[in-house]
Amino acid sequence: MLVSRRFALIFLLLAAGPTILVGENSSPGPAPERARPAGTAVPHLVYSDVHVDEPYVALTFDDGPHATLTPKLLDLLASRHIKATFFVLGECVEQNPQVLQRAAREGHEIANHSWSHPQLNRMSDEGVRSQLKRTDDLIKSLIGIRPTLFRPPYGALTSRQKKWIPEEFGYKIILWDVDPLDWKEPGPATVTNRIVKNTRPGSIVLSHDIHRGTIEAMPATIDQLLAKHYKFVTVSELIGLATPEPPKPPRKPVASGTAPTASPPATTGMSPAASPPTAASAATTTATPNH
Ligand code: ZN
Repeated sequence: MLVSRRFALIFLLLAAGPTILVGENSSPGPAPERARPAGTAVPHLVYSDVHVDEPYVALTFDDGPHATLTPKLLDLLASRHIKATFFVLGECVEQNPQVLQRAAREGHEIANHSWSHPQLNRMSDEGVRSQLKRTDDLIKSLIGIRPTLFRPPYGALTSRQKKWIPEEFGYKIILWDVDPLDWKEPGPATVTNRIVKNTRPGSIVLSHDIHRGTIEAMPATIDQLLAKHYKFVTVSELIGLATPEPPKPPRKPVASGTAPTASPPATTGMSPAASPPTAASAATTTATPNH
C-alpha cells in the first residue's frame, strides 16, 4: 500500500516535470505580453527583435509618410533593392496618400503607428480603438490591405493594452532593439554609426523618415550594413524567418551541473524569445520620449 502510493507519487512528479518546464518556457519574461492561447497560435505578440539564423534585419521608419523626405528614402531603397517597413501616422497618410501608395506599390510593408501619435497608455479603450481603427481603415482604403503590425507611439502600452489590441485588431506589436535617437538630430554620421554598431542578426532598427538627417544617413548606413553581409527584409518577413531559440545547442551544463535534467532548458531556452524585447525597449522607451 505504502509502496504503491509512493510509486504513484513518483509517477506524478515525473509526469509533472515536463509540464513545469513547458510552463517556464512559455512565460520567460513579463507574462502579460502573452495573449491567451484561445486566440492565435502565435507564440508571442510583442517583438523588439527576432531570432534568426542568418543576418536578416528590418529597417523601420516611423511617423511619416513625409511629402518630400519619404520619396527620397523610397528612391534610395529602390536603388539598393531593399524593402523596409513604414509605421505610419493616419494624419500623415491623410496628407500624403500618394506617398503611402508608392511605398506599398514598391513592396514595402505598411504598418499602423496610430492616428496622431498620442500616449496610448494614458487613453481610454475607446480612444485607443479610434486611433488604431481610423488609421487602419485609411490604410486599407488606399492600398487595399490592412496592416498586421502596430507600433505604439513612444513604445508605450499598458499590459492590458498589449493583450486586447492584438486580440481585437490581429496585430503583432513591434518595438525595436536598435535606436539611433535620430529624432534628436545628432547628424547623419552619428545616426549611421549608432545603427551600424548596434545592429545584429534579427534586429529591428528604429528611425524616422521625417528628419532630413535620417534620410541623409541612410545611404552610408545601408551600404555599411550591406558590407557586413546583412540582408534587409520587412518586419513581417523577419518574423516569418524566425528560427526557434536553441534550447539545447548552446546549453551550458558546465555551470549548472547540479541540476542535470531540468536546468539547461530552463536557463537557455526561453529568455531570448521574449526578454530582449522588454529589456531593450524598456531602456529606450524611458530614454527617448519621442517615438
Ligand atoms: Zn513615433
